[in-house]
Amino acid sequence: SKRSLSDKNVYDWSSEEEEPDGRARPVQVLLVKDDHTFELDEAALSRILLAEEVRDREVVAISVAGAFRKGKSFLMDFMLRYMYHHASEDWLGNADEPLTGFSWRGGSERETTGIQIWSEVFLVDKPDGRKVAVLLMDTQGTFDSQSTLRDSATVFALSTMISSMQVYNISQNVQEDDLQHLQLFTEYGRLAMEETFLKPFQSMIFLVRDWSFPYEFPYGQEGGMKFLEKRLKISENQHEELQNVRKHIHSCFTNISCFLMPHPGLKVATNPHFDGRIKEIDGEFINNLKVLVPWLLSPRNIDVKEINGSKITCRGLVEYFKAYIKIYQG
Ligand code: GDP
Ligand code: MG
Repeated sequence: SKRSLSDKNVYDWSSEEEEPDGRARPVQVLLVKDDHTFELDEAALSRILLAEEVRDREVVAISVAGAFRKGKSFLMDFMLRYMYHHASEDWLGNADEPLTGFSWRGGSERETTGIQIWSEVFLVDKPDGRKVAVLLMDTQGTFDSQSTLRDSATVFALSTMISSMQVYNISQNVQEDDLQHLQLFTEYGRLAMEETFLKPFQSMIFLVRDWSFPYEFPYGQEGGMKFLEKRLKISENQHEELQNVRKHIHSCFTNISCFLMPHPGLKVATNPHFDGRIKEIDGEFINNLKVLVPWLLSPRNIDVKEINGSKITCRGLVEYFKAYIKIYQG
């Protein structure tokens, strides 16, 4: 009974109405206001996660986080396409189909720091026969000043705390400040959590966009892992600060991996009329997308959210979300 993708082509993104036609859409559940206070839309969160079909299911919470204008929503729309096509072989659809879902077209979106979730939670059958609920989250921040950095760190911390997989979307390379930001926001997260002997978070994926050194480290996951190993390596002659950032990151996540994505081509990056159709995206990007999306989302690869070693349901996730936000609201 899933709706087809073409039904979703006519969203009115400017509308603040709540799903007047019942169609799925992104919903802002956490908002950072201009005065740096946080607002959690508990009603929206409950409407989505406490729906009868999903509330008692174990939840897989997938977050994509990073700065604005780096292609997160564009990627998430492909993730939605995969989910709506039930992970089938031909999930990419036809070459002329415009891309819809999270808003991504240049300039159409007010740049709000916060968390958006997709209003439809997907039910997926794992190969072991369990049915799990998959939640997609888009987390955005800005890093241009001290105050926005603090807001962003909190938002990133929250999304890391409530997700089972955090995709850290970064542009071109893994720079030292990308690592420092990651340290800052995982530290924010860890401070808010109960201390245990377990690592506090599950999977962290560094997703490098517009990777331009494929001859040094090839596109994809294997090249990514080799690249990341080198980037996160701790050595005696490194400055102490650099060593600490690396130790911290290793101590926070159960799994750390990396995927190197090629540039999608000039039409995607610069043409204001580009509507996301595959025909106009570089073939190399599409080839890697075909690997990346199932690697992130295939029923076999997705992991249920765990906190302190216990699996969490959608209902449990709402409770954690509320509890964590209280800590930051002080
Ligand atoms: P977000 O703010 O991170 O969600 O970014 P968007 O998904 O809205 O994309 C911002 C702009 O970057 C759009 O014009 C996209 O067409 C373009 N874009 C999407 N993916 C990529 C990419 O991998 N590389 C580059 N250079 N541009 C991209
Ligand atoms: Mg976006």
